[in-house]
Amino acid sequence: MELTDSYNRKIDYIRVSVTDRCNLRCIYCMPSEGVREITHTEILRYEEIVRLLSVAADLGIKKVRITGGEPLVRKGLPSLIKAISNIKGIEEISLTTNGVLLRNFARELKEAGLKRLNISLDSMNPNRYEEITRGNNLADVWEGIKIAEGLGFSPIKINMVPIRGFNDNEIKDFASLTFNKPYHIRFIEFMPTGAKEIWSKDKCIPVQEIRDLISELGELKPIKNEWGSGPAKNFRIDGAKGVVGFISAISDHFCGGCNRLRLTSDGKLRPCLFSSLEIDLKKAIRDGGSDEDLRRIFVSAIEIKPEKHYINELPPELLIKSMSKIGG
Ligand code: SAM
Ligand code: SF4
Repeated sequence: MELTDSYNRKIDYIRVSVTDRCNLRCIYCMPSEGVREITHTEILRYEEIVRLLSVAADLGIKKVRITGGEPLVRKGLPSLIKAISNIKGIEEISLTTNGVLLRNFARELKEAGLKRLNISLDSMNPNRYEEITRGNNLADVWEGIKIAEGLGFSPIKINMVPIRGFNDNEIKDFASLTFNKPYHIRFIEFMPTGAKEIWSKDKCIPVQEIRDLISELGELKPIKNEWGSGPAKNFRIDGAKGVVGFISAISDHFCGGCNRLRLTSDGKLRPCLFSSLEIDLKKAIRDGGSDEDLRRIFVSAIEIKPEKHYINELPPELLIKSMSKIGG
């Protein structure tokens, strides 16, 4: 079966947030005191997530990305990965993590069937890393990356959010990692989510500017994207082993090719990251809804998926909640 929305986009990808908790407090994502944590009973249980994903897979969802909050702080995550990898129709499971706990879990995750890893890292300088994340785990993150590499996770994707006047002088250093390693380094435009105090338009570096900087390292050769391979535009710097990618939610939105849904940790189905539209799947499942009821909810979420987002037009006070709440 295939799911297509009102704008003829094929929907085959879901990002599942398994927790809103995190072991870091990145300045652009969370306030230093953290956000109000959802209680354990409000969070979807693993068996509920698996049931929902089985219904979604039946409808045509093929790819699942696990995210959060920090997914590795939730107990027993490898068991969830294993259960998802056994769902008929799910072809790929990936994980987005800040990497702090990766060294402890990389092997179990691999054995459970995890195929792809995205690690978020915004600075290679220990002091700046601490300033951004309010944590001092840079060495743990690198150790996790090395272990994952050794276990054969491929490609290893590293996500960096450049912020003007803060870590933008590391853009070329990150891109240069691809000369020696087959990493995919992805530069994500700083978005006005959860960071109202520190976000301003001038701190967000448009992807074109990041590209121009990186092209000083060598010619950027485009790599063709397959449908649904994600919003990144990918290139290889001449002579490099790895890939650089650019994700521009702000300057050049990619809504036309959006193939995804989001499931929040408290069981809300969100058809668009940047819209507050959400449908309560947890209520349906806990009220004893049948698979057919759940299927209808997925279909209605796809029917209301907006054509595009309007964050460029929104005033700051209406900006959406933190990525840690929705699942980045
Ligand atoms: N904790 C995990 C991590 O950091 O990878 C997964 C969740 S985190 C919310 C997912 C991604 O969202 C990270 O790559 C993070 O850099 C990104 N993110 C969070 N807030 C952002 C913002 N305001 N602008 C751009 N990216 C943001
Ligand atoms: Fe935690 Fe990820 Fe948000 Fe950083 S970006 S505070 S690691 S959820």
